[in-house]
Amino acid sequence: MPVQRCAGERPEVEAEKHLAIKPLAPVLGSSKKELAMGHPGLRVLPSTILPRDLDGLSLPTENIDRYARRIDYMRISITDRCNLRCVYCMPAEGVALAPKAELLSFEEIWRVAEAATAIGFKKFRVTGGEPLVVKAIATFLTGLRRATSGAQLCLTSNGVHLPEHLETIHAIGIDRINISLDTLNPDRFRRLTRRDGLDRVLRSIDQALELGFSRVKINAVIVPGVNEDDLVRLVGIAETRDLDVRFIEQMPLDGEVDGGFLGADEMLRRIGDRYPLESIAPEDNRQAAQLMFRSPKLRGQVGIIAPRSRKF
Ligand code: SF4
Repeated sequence: MPVQRCAGERPEVEAEKHLAIKPLAPVLGSSKKELAMGHPGLRVLPSTILPRDLDGLSLPTENIDRYARRIDYMRISITDRCNLRCVYCMPAEGVALAPKAELLSFEEIWRVAEAATAIGFKKFRVTGGEPLVVKAIATFLTGLRRATSGAQLCLTSNGVHLPEHLETIHAIGIDRINISLDTLNPDRFRRLTRRDGLDRVLRSIDQALELGFSRVKINAVIVPGVNEDDLVRLVGIAETRDLDVRFIEQMPLDGEVDGGFLGADEMLRRIGDRYPLESIAPEDNRQAAQLMFRSPKLRGQVGIIAPRSRKF
């Protein structure tokens, strides 16, 4: 069954080979082969921790994969629902949703997260779909914060419902916010997402900065022939704001747009014409899949994730 993840998140799933929790019952009862055949955006590694595995299990003290990389970052997709219908992500009518009974419960997710924290996981990200369409999101995040004490807790959202949730999310102790935004043009936003809401997304960005999250990041997908001229405009947001703008090469998903993609080199050339870019080393090995840059003209950084044009 297809499960949507916000498109801005998918490349990282492939890139960082993180541990993913698939919120579907088939995961709990599937063979490793079935797990590996899941939706391409949901890479469930054979080493995924499942609630049933925790009983009587001798937990590892090191999470090192066969390429000697430490695995300490977990992404948690808590829903396959979304209030938007981005054209590169899903058809206008949406996708078949997993029956509620097949989703992991909050308690199960908290239990997995607590066990992961105990064996050294240092960063957790809550994604969807769109996490904020989950009614009891505050309850979930409060429990997750408790279960992951000491670890970094991040949230990804398309921003439309963020304004009414941001203060609560900040009070709960979420450290970082990623907001998906592909255009600054209201008509184009409507065309790309098949919904309204650009004003709310822009408001959520400024509110997040005012509240003082430790980092605010914009994730953007550039679709050739649709929002190419938003590339440089979106970078311009970081001229006056202390946030990062990150572009993700478009991946072939379940949407209707597949007219090629704008590669990292061409994106960097266009951005560099306006903002001189200087390459910077990734913060840690979790960011090895990203190209990161700073510019004397920008307060924040520019990032590119290039799962199609680069190998990492
Ligand atoms: S915000 Fe857009 S890209 Fe993200 S899950 Fe929803 S429809 Fe897909």
